[in-house]
Amino acid sequence: MSCDFHALATPGVQRLHPYEPGKPMEELERELGIRDVVKLASNENPLGPSPRALQAIQAHLPELARYPDGNGYVLKQALSHRLDVPAEQLTLGNGSNDVLEFIVRVFATPAHEVVCSQHAFAVYPISSQSVGARVVSVPARDYGHDLQAMADAINERTCLVFIANPNNPTGTWVDADALAGFLERVPEHVLVVVDEAYREYVDEPDYPDCVQWLPAHANLVVTRTFSKAYGLAGLRIGYAVSNPQVADLMNRVRQPFNVNSLGLVAAAAALEDREHVERGLAVNRTGMRFLRDNLQRLGLQYIPSIGNFLTARMPRSGAEVYQALLREGVIVRPLGAYGMPDHLRISIGTEAENRRLVAALERVL
Ligand SMILES: *Cc1c(COP(=O)(O)O)cnc(C)c1O
Repeated sequence: MSCDFHALATPGVQRLHPYEPGKPMEELERELGIRDVVKLASNENPLGPSPRALQAIQAHLPELARYPDGNGYVLKQALSHRLDVPAEQLTLGNGSNDVLEFIVRVFATPAHEVVCSQHAFAVYPISSQSVGARVVSVPARDYGHDLQAMADAINERTCLVFIANPNNPTGTWVDADALAGFLERVPEHVLVVVDEAYREYVDEPDYPDCVQWLPAHANLVVTRTFSKAYGLAGLRIGYAVSNPQVADLMNRVRQPFNVNSLGLVAAAAALEDREHVERGLAVNRTGMRFLRDNLQRLGLQYIPSIGNFLTARMPRSGAEVYQALLREGVIVRPLGAYGMPDHLRISIGTEAENRRLVAALERVL
């Protein structure tokens, strides 16, 4: 190769490290020549999609030659009704990852800074860096977002702040008082993105429902997803709720058909299946208790989590324990890329999956 394409890439992209996803089950099954791999690595719903979503997908299959409804009318109407916000405040994405990128592309340039927390979801720095913006990663406090320090980090170059509530991979969260105090300190021209990917799992009276705060805070953007509690990670569908002007701007950078038609019909059906979500939450509560009890029994420390995953500190390198668990046919998530080399993130699975994980962990340690 005579041309050094790396040297031609934009400076932001040159410095970028790609997102490291959870290892796919099929990959480990190929590598080990086994079949019954357990994956607790991507915080997916262990019960799978809602049966109603599957029916909607089946019914829509003959329409696949057609482009999807680029405006997602039916799903937006359903969300509008559910959330009690006008449809013009909604932006649909190919996963909420997509809408996070819209926000970055609308507001961030190489002259800007984006504030996020240490140990926060990796997509915020990756998206911001890819457009050349400077990422200001504020040291975490007890593994969670330090909102005081994040407010202090805002300056005249700041265009965006990302807050994951709860955060992945730590499971930490910010309460309504802390967030309200933070928003008071943020200048109106700085967008605050609150990522509520795990909100359905949260059972805390002081957890803020940020959609209700939108009328009072024009600079607030709330993102949510069908990938976690709704069990549709493979279909890639999420959304943002914002003020109508911000939604209009995001709509300008969106691909015309960014959300696929199966995702649209499945999400609308899943939204109506509250029983399925409730079953998932019950499995999560029981599994969370089981995992916490067993980590304690094994003498392992963990970060208290309000999501569908638990991050625990290993007695030796997390990467080593991760590799040893793979050989037991169990996939979890190593957190070296998050600056937590001794920790592993474990998604809560079904009872059988959780038992497999605990037994494997016991053998490995
Ligand atoms: C999983 C996750 C998302 C959701 O990603 P999708 O693109 O909607 O699948 C968003 N934010 C956080 C913090 C997550 O952990």
